[in-house]
Amino acid sequence: MGPPGAGKGTQGELLAQHFGIPRYSTGDILRDARRSTTELGLEAQRYMDAGELVPDAVILGIVEQVMSEPEAAGGFLCDGFPRTVAQARGLAEVLARDDLALDAVLNLTVGVGEIVSRLTRRAGLEGRTDDDLQTVRRRLEVYEEQTAPVLEYYRESPVGVTNVDGTGTVDEIQARLRERLSA
Ligand code: ADP
Repeated sequence: MGPPGAGKGTQGELLAQHFGIPRYSTGDILRDARRSTTELGLEAQRYMDAGELVPDAVILGIVEQVMSEPEAAGGFLCDGFPRTVAQARGLAEVLARDDLALDAVLNLTVGVGEIVSRLTRRAGLEGRTDDDLQTVRRRLEVYEEQTAPVLEYYRESPVGVTNVDGTGTVDEIQARLRERLSA
C-alpha cells in the first residue's frame, strides 16, 4: 500500500523476487490490457487517463483470475490492490474461500510534496498518460478519498498495518521492508 508514486512497483518487484513469489500489480495488468487493446483495456483506459479508479467488479474479476493460477499457490504479493474498502472486503472473501489469510499489509509512507515531484518527473521519463499534473492531483485526491480508508480497514483487522518509511535509496527502503517482514 502507499500513495501513487510511493515506489510500490519498484519495491514490490524486489520483494517478490526475494521471496520467489509472483507480484500482481493491477496497474500493470490494466496497462498491458490497454496496450493489447483488449475489451478490458479499452474499458479501463478512460478511468486511468482521468486518474479515477477502475470499477471494483472489474478489478476483483482480474484478481480472482490471477490468484487461481498455479504459480500463486506458494503465496503472492498484491501491488496497487486493494484500493477501496469494497476491494479489501472482496479480497477477504476470496481468501477465506481457500482458507488463506494475509501475512502482512505493508504501507510505504511518503510526503505529498515528494509524491508530486516524483510523479511529475516520471511523466517526462516514462510518458505515462496518467502522470500529467492535473491527473496526478486527481489521483492523490482519489487516494485520500478511497484508498486511505483501506488502511483504516486493515488497522482494525487482525493483520494490522506495517508502516515503512518510503524515502531514501531503493536499497535502503528494500532493507527496511525485509526487516519489518522478518520481525
Ligand atoms: P500508481 O500506484 O502510480 O497510482 P498504478 O499503476 O497502481 O499506479 O495504477 C494506475 C491506475 O490504474 C490507477 O490510477 C487506476 O485508474 C487503475 N487501477 C490500478 N489498480 C486499481 C485498483 N485496484 N482499483 C481501481 N483502479 C485501479
